[in-house]
Amino acid sequence: MKKTPAEWKRYYEKHRKDPAYQYRGPLGAEVLKNQTTFRLWSPVAEQVRLVTYDRGDGGEILFTADMDKGPEGVWTYTHPACLSGTYYLYQMQIEGEILESTDPYGKACGVNGRRSMVIDLKQTDPPGFAKEKAPDREAEDVIYELHVKEFSWDPSGGFLPEVRGTYRAFTQEDTHLNSDPKAEETGLSYLKKLGVNTLQIMPMYDYGSVDEAGEKDAFNWGYDPMHYNIPEGSYSTDPYHGEVRIREAKKMIAAMHRAGFRVIMDVVYNHTYCLDTCLQRTMPWYFYRLEKDGTVSNGSCCGNDIASERAMVRRYIEDSVLYWAREYHMDGFRFDLMGLLDTELMNEIREKLDALYGPGEKLIYGEPWAAGDTAMEKGSVQALKENEERLHPGIGMFGDDLRDGVKGSVFEELDAGFVNGKEDQEELIACAIRGFGRAASRWIAYVSCHDNLTLWDKLTCTTEDIELRKKQNCLAAAIYFTSLGRPFLLSGEEFLRTKEGEDNSYNAPITLNRLDWKLIRENADMVSYYQGLIGLRKHIPLLCSKEADACDHMEILHARGGVVCYTGELPGDADSFGGILVAYNSLEEDRAITLPGKLLKKPWQVLLKGTDSHLWENPLPIASTEKQPEKLCLPGCGCLILGIRG
Ligand code: CA
Repeated sequence: MKKTPAEWKRYYEKHRKDPAYQYRGPLGAEVLKNQTTFRLWSPVAEQVRLVTYDRGDGGEILFTADMDKGPEGVWTYTHPACLSGTYYLYQMQIEGEILESTDPYGKACGVNGRRSMVIDLKQTDPPGFAKEKAPDREAEDVIYELHVKEFSWDPSGGFLPEVRGTYRAFTQEDTHLNSDPKAEETGLSYLKKLGVNTLQIMPMYDYGSVDEAGEKDAFNWGYDPMHYNIPEGSYSTDPYHGEVRIREAKKMIAAMHRAGFRVIMDVVYNHTYCLDTCLQRTMPWYFYRLEKDGTVSNGSCCGNDIASERAMVRRYIEDSVLYWAREYHMDGFRFDLMGLLDTELMNEIREKLDALYGPGEKLIYGEPWAAGDTAMEKGSVQALKENEERLHPGIGMFGDDLRDGVKGSVFEELDAGFVNGKEDQEELIACAIRGFGRAASRWIAYVSCHDNLTLWDKLTCTTEDIELRKKQNCLAAAIYFTSLGRPFLLSGEEFLRTKEGEDNSYNAPITLNRLDWKLIRENADMVSYYQGLIGLRKHIPLLCSKEADACDHMEILHARGGVVCYTGELPGDADSFGGILVAYNSLEEDRAITLPGKLLKKPWQVLLKGTDSHLWENPLPIASTEKQPEKLCLPGCGCLILGIRG
């Protein structure tokens, strides 16, 4: 009798503490000079045979070999030659049934991940890769969310036709708008000037929704993993030869580092594309959560949930994260639906990365929520916002309160926020910019990401007047750039990116999703505004602080009548602004604000006012203590930032 899913669940609970479910030795295909060893963990398999091929699809079988089972459920076969470049599958027998599977620990694969590939990873390193590393950290990490294909697909970006939409586009230097060498720079040079310094790459491991052998212009965000340890093939110039995508992904990361950016990988360990994966084929129902009655848990709303709390799943996810950090030089990880993973896993990842690379060197943050209820095993705790005290302080969370408070709920198109006309948001904004009194390291401060409407599209729903909408956009940006935490933006937010009102473009055509580089000229005033704002942020030590007590250095002076105002102080070097006063005015009319008495005695200068974010670069003469006015003009639907001396 074959076990039902519910019986599998009980079986694994019963065997939870068996040595086979605590295995810590090597897995996958290990290549030495004259030898290749294959290791597959599957204590429940009755037989496993290795089948090797000369190609990633079609072609010939090279040889087959029965594998031997060890005491910890690991099937092993050693071949007396280096097999790098050979494709392979495991032929499994489980409960009498024969099926084939790729290798969960596979590091390379052929087209569409149909077969795994043995790879000598050193051969995939671009020249000098062993020594290449991330640029030094700046005062602030300003995170910019990018999609490999969106970045270079539009012809206006000036990328060579053969690299558009691929990893390789990032290695093309000196790109210009419409390929005109006299025109504005695009690509990484543009981003460098903008001032962002940390690129978050939307999923780039092998995913299932795009046919790598199909239409070149097929598009998906990629939140549908198939092979966690292999780069996606549709972004490579040759998805058929397993080594190409690896080398091209490494070159992309090296190019980003060289251009001055750190690289964050968006990882989706909470679910897979479908249930028919190598995880399920090699260990039925071990990697996935089931309800007690055997129905499949679906807290991801994508059809399945990975059972992160099981020992060998935890090991699998940790191995994968550490692999991308080590082999691809990733500088951090953004965890999709982190609330579906467990706090113990997240804390272990934090501790292991800290031990290997130094405390906090690799960024970790995630979405502290789930899409629905999940059947996590008892005794484990979901990494949700409400369980924040169980999470290491070095694990960041996206701040949805600030996001929605600034411009309205992501779930209701017509809902507005502080900048676009909703009343009584002052208290919420005042709390959110201080990070609700929690450690500053905890927050990702943002108002737009790949999900939901772009900021510009959201403001379009509530505000007809384009000039007013631009002011609202500037104010929204000023708010999250003057909040505690790490600022984050969706690529193109700064040039008024639009998806024409589409709020879930995950499988919309690339023509809708692509970055339209023409907008950097059309909305050059907005790009310039963001540039000034980002630069200013890096010069305010209080806002860059990630200490637990940064919020104690901020004092809310006013939070009512459409105005929020605070002062703060944290000394830095001579180039920085140790004391600041920040005021936001959500009303359309200018307002006069009275400087608080204790600040009246200190000299100050205007750093940013309304849509002019560059004042700090050439500060206005400092107002002397004798003649400075008691009242200042706070522009309508705008922000005012003062630097305070002494
Ligand atoms: Ca794929």
